[in-house]
Parts: sequence; C-alpha cells; structure tokens
Amino acid sequence: MYDVAIIGGGPAGVSAAINVKLLGKTVVWFGEHDLSNKGALAENIKNYPGLYAITGKELMWAFKNHAESMELIPVDEIVTGVYGKGGKFDVLTKENVYKAKSVILATGAQSIQSAEGESRLVGKGISYCATCDGFLYRGKTIGVYLTEKKYEHEAAFLCEIAKEVYLFPLYKNCEIKGDNVKIILKKPTAFLGNERIEEIIYAGGKCKVDGMFILKSAISPAVLVRDVRMDEGHVWVDRNMATSVLGVFAAGDCTGRPYQYAKAVGEGNVAAHSAVEYLSKL
Ligand code: FAD
Repeated sequence: MYDVAIIGGGPAGVSAAINVKLLGKTVVWFGEHDLSNKGALAENIKNYPGLYAITGKELMWAFKNHAESMELIPVDEIVTGVYGKGGKFDVLTKENVYKAKSVILATGAQSIQSAEGESRLVGKGISYCATCDGFLYRGKTIGVYLTEKKYEHEAAFLCEIAKEVYLFPLYKNCEIKGDNVKIILKKPTAFLGNERIEEIIYAGGKCKVDGMFILKSAISPAVLVRDVRMDEGHVWVDRNMATSVLGVFAAGDCTGRPYQYAKAVGEGNVAAHSAVEYLSKL
C-alpha cells in the first residue's frame, strides 16, 4: 500500500511527487514519461521566477531531470477510476490496481472537458479501456473516440471485434479503415441513454450505439472520483487543496484558473503537505 497516489505528470503532479518523497512518504505517481504535453507547448515563459524566457520543453525537461534524480519515475498508465474511502483507495488503471492511503488529483485542464453524459454512463456502456471491455461488444455497434494517433492500435482492435464502428478521431490522417468503419470528423458532444448508453450526439448528427470507447490521456476528476464536488467545471478545493472527499486532494489546472505553471507547482506543494498531514492523523 502506497502512502500517496498522484494522478498526472504535469507541473502540479511533479511538484506533489517531489514534496511527498521529501516528506518521507511512499508515492505511486501516474503520468507520461515526458510528463505533460501541455506543459511543453509554451514557446517563451516569462512569468516563472528564476527561469526568465525559458521554453515549455526546457522547463518540463528540468522537472523531469529533478524527479529522476530523486528516483521518481511516473508509471505510464492512464488512471480510469479511484474507489474506496480515506485511508484505503483502489486506484485502477487499464493494466493494474494500485492501493494507496490518499490521492492527489493533478490531471490538468484538458481532463475537465468531458462530454455531457460521460461521467453518468461510465460503466454503463462507456469504457476507457479497449482491451478490458472490447470483448463485450463482439458483433455489436460501437462508437470510438480517440484523441491521439497513439491510440489507433486499440481502436483497430475494437474495429476487428465490433460489427459496426463510428470512429471519431480528434486529429488528421486517421489510418484506420474497414467496411464496418464510418469515420466522423467531429467531436462527440453528448452521450444519451438511461440505464446504458444508447446514442452519441455530435455537431450535425447522431448515431445509435451499444457501447462507446473513449481513448484519451486525461480523464475528468468527476469520473475518476465519483463523489468529488465540482465547481463550474473544476475540482472544488479548500485552502489546503483538500477536495470534498476525505483523503483526496487536488492541484494545478484541474482546480481552476489561472492556468499557470507557478500556480500548479505551488498547489502541488500544498497538496503534498496536506496529504502527509492527513496520513499522520489516520
Ligand atoms: P498539465 O500540464 O495539463 O498536466 C496534467 C497531466 O495529467 C497531463 O499530462 C495528462 O495527460 C495527465 N492526466 C490527466 N488525467 C490522467 C489520468 N486519468 N491518468 C494519468 N494521467 C492523467 N503557463 C504559464 O505560467 N506561463 C506561460 O507562459 C504559459 N504558456 C502556455 C502556453 C501554451 C501554448 C499552453 C497550452 C499553456 C501555457 N501555460 C503557461 C499553462 C501551463 O502549461 C499549465 O498551467 C500547466 O501545464 C498546468 O500544469 P498541470 O500539472 O496542472 O496540468
């Protein structure tokens, strides 16, 4: 059992991971090996103290270097759910289940953009994992939404299993083809259905489905932690970065504006200290 699970490899996550480790606690940290695509996009950062006019790539490289020198290497797995309660959480990825006493959400702003109906229908026909749930849709009609080319092999696997596939790639030059595949170059805006997903709505159209696979690298905190309170689309936190769920903390862009490195790093630091204080009370 880890003391703290940190979800997100951006500036908030890296800051939380460094501080949890410095405070002597064990940590399992989820993120991509290059930490954060978004974090690397800035061309010229002028508001990060001490590193005037650094690029996003350079800053992320410095963060990565710092973490690696402390033997902090993110686990490159997407977290799909956090279950349990304070002191005893199961953190599910597509591949494994990890146990942790507390959780820090550092999932960024991209993660808060989920389509209407998504969080309500997860587990009711909406899945984030092709290899885990794909076999349930043999001979059925499904939708597949993929945000990056790197998910094409998972989408191709689904196209082999399903009878009919509505494919929504969020990028150009999708290479998946097949008689059973209809490519729609729009973003799904809503998922409808009562007990299960029944229909996908997108700009200018809709389609009936038995299941929906969403293949993306950021998952909304409201989906990850079912009862977490949201505030105008962001995770609600108090001054200690505690969320409404005991033992769960949040930091960075996912807690709200301004979307900035320094805020993310500062909040990651506070969340780490609060998580460790929480552990001492357990
Ligand atoms: P992110 O950097 O978004 O990192 C979150 C990470 O969590 C992502 O890698 C995501 O894939 C991962 N994640 C999400 N869900 C899961 C999951 N379920 N499982 C595993 N991993 C998950 N800020 C400034 O201060 N100054 C600037 O000059 C500046 N310029 C910018 C320029 C551009 C073009 C952009 C896009 C942003 C800029 N920013 C700037 C903003 C800055 O990049 C962000 O504020 C910062 O990256 C936020 O850090 P974060 O850790 O909260 O989130």
